[in-house]
Amino acid sequence: MRSFQFQRRTFDGLICSVSRLQHQKLVTLNKGICVTRCHSNHVGSYQSPVDIASKSLSCDTDLKNYPLQISYQVEKELDIENNGYTVVVPIKQNSFITGGPLQDRYRLIQFHLHWGCSNDRGSEHTVDGQVYAGEIHLVHWNTDKYGSFQEALTQPDGLAVLGAVVKIGRENPGMKLVVDNMDKVVTSGSRCTVPSQFDPQTLLSYDISKYWTYPGSLTTPEYNESVTWIVFCEPFVISQNQMDALRSLRNPEGKCICDNFRDVKPLSQRCIRASF
Ligand SMILES: [Zn+2]
Repeated sequence: MRSFQFQRRTFDGLICSVSRLQHQKLVTLNKGICVTRCHSNHVGSYQSPVDIASKSLSCDTDLKNYPLQISYQVEKELDIENNGYTVVVPIKQNSFITGGPLQDRYRLIQFHLHWGCSNDRGSEHTVDGQVYAGEIHLVHWNTDKYGSFQEALTQPDGLAVLGAVVKIGRENPGMKLVVDNMDKVVTSGSRCTVPSQFDPQTLLSYDISKYWTYPGSLTTPEYNESVTWIVFCEPFVISQNQMDALRSLRNPEGKCICDNFRDVKPLSQRCIRASF
């Protein structure tokens, strides 16, 4: 086992009290070599989103040998909320992910999107400097180690977010039910329940074996540094009509919600790993 070595090879010389598994997750770059470091809680060093410089990354065989597993359940009905900043779909069934960079089981709690006022911007992560029209986030929390989402929020291995940049193209079947009912949640703070089954797996109808992963933060306040990011290489394609429906939602001032994304932050000493 390499656990003892890892505990000695911290980037900043701190003696870590975190577990070996946490250690292995918090990988950073030192002189071109990925090493582990202690998680520090001050905002600034583990912020998201980041630019993914994909050309400099090579396959991490640990990720390839331990594939990401998606075990989502069909929702009996679909809730849609306009929280004044984005559209949120809360998930009630026991849908979870394991594997890949994750040492524990993470339960899906909600998904939401970020988008631009025009198609030339809107994504949070960028790939080789390229900005996309939006980004979808499926938010999960560590139910193996923590008793609630609120507790997980404050832990370095508390959350895992699956992300994919949004590209405009054909209609997305997974988004159809959400978009078809968007007119019911135009007003900020409104919410509706659609009595139709919804399968969140339909949001992942692209190659999920290819992704980038790194330790980061929420991209909205309080910017908790508790997220294992898993950003898929393949974009999440939606139609122009579906994008227009997102832009029809209103914020608390009655204006259209758009440009609800955070700018990229420095990667600093962190290391992005690729699964392919
Ligand atoms: Zn988000």
